[in-house]
Amino acid sequence: MPMVPNRVLLVTPHPDDAEGGCGATVARWIAGGAEVVYLLCTNGDKGTTDLEMTPPRLAETREREQLEAARVLGVKDVVFLRHPDGALEDDRQFRGEVVREIRRHRPDVVMCMEPFRLVSHSHRDHRISGQVTVDAVATYAWRPLYFPNHMADEGLAPHQAPHVYLWGSETPDTFVDVSTTVDRKIDTLLKHASQMTDPDRVRSRVRESARRVAQTHGTGFEYAEAFRVMSFSRDPLLVT
Ligand SMILES: [Zn+2]
Repeated sequence: MPMVPNRVLLVTPHPDDAEGGCGATVARWIAGGAEVVYLLCTNGDKGTTDLEMTPPRLAETREREQLEAARVLGVKDVVFLRHPDGALEDDRQFRGEVVREIRRHRPDVVMCMEPFRLVSHSHRDHRISGQVTVDAVATYAWRPLYFPNHMADEGLAPHQAPHVYLWGSETPDTFVDVSTTVDRKIDTLLKHASQMTDPDRVRSRVRESARRVAQTHGTGFEYAEAFRVMSFSRDPLLVT
């Protein structure tokens, strides 16, 4: 596994989840030459406690915030699926959308949220986006007879992504030293102004969390982000 992947597809359920979950790793990889594309599954149009807010207004605001955060981070492109917040389903349509972007961008690392948690709760969109992404990488994207219309209509060949990095895992096994990019993570997270109403608290919580991850797992780093990594061989017979 190279220290810095060449091409990364990051599948994120809501605006701000990517920056909050692994923004410092993304920043580090981009600084090292990685080409990163986001696939944003929902428009985040329920992410408020403001009784005066409407879903269309919030969706528009959050799309703008996500584009700005991605620009600051150096993300090459953001693909918006614009499903309503809270409405992701593990269905043929969503599976096909994730498979299409894997085949289009041909990543060596796919990043997504950990779908399997035994102890702590995670948002339904988080679970479903993670599960569908892992299934897309492990099974659908590299077999030509799944979604053959991608090849027939768009010329998109099957693709086996070798590695999936899951953020938000209860059982991480891989730790990235983000000591040089934790501040960049904070900068990009604060672009989501509709969600980050207390910037000082965001700064202290991000640093505390990254420091705790680094120390808890004995990494020797000052700041770290944690992942569970699943690896899949290019040889379909050796998929584990
Ligand atoms: Zn979320």
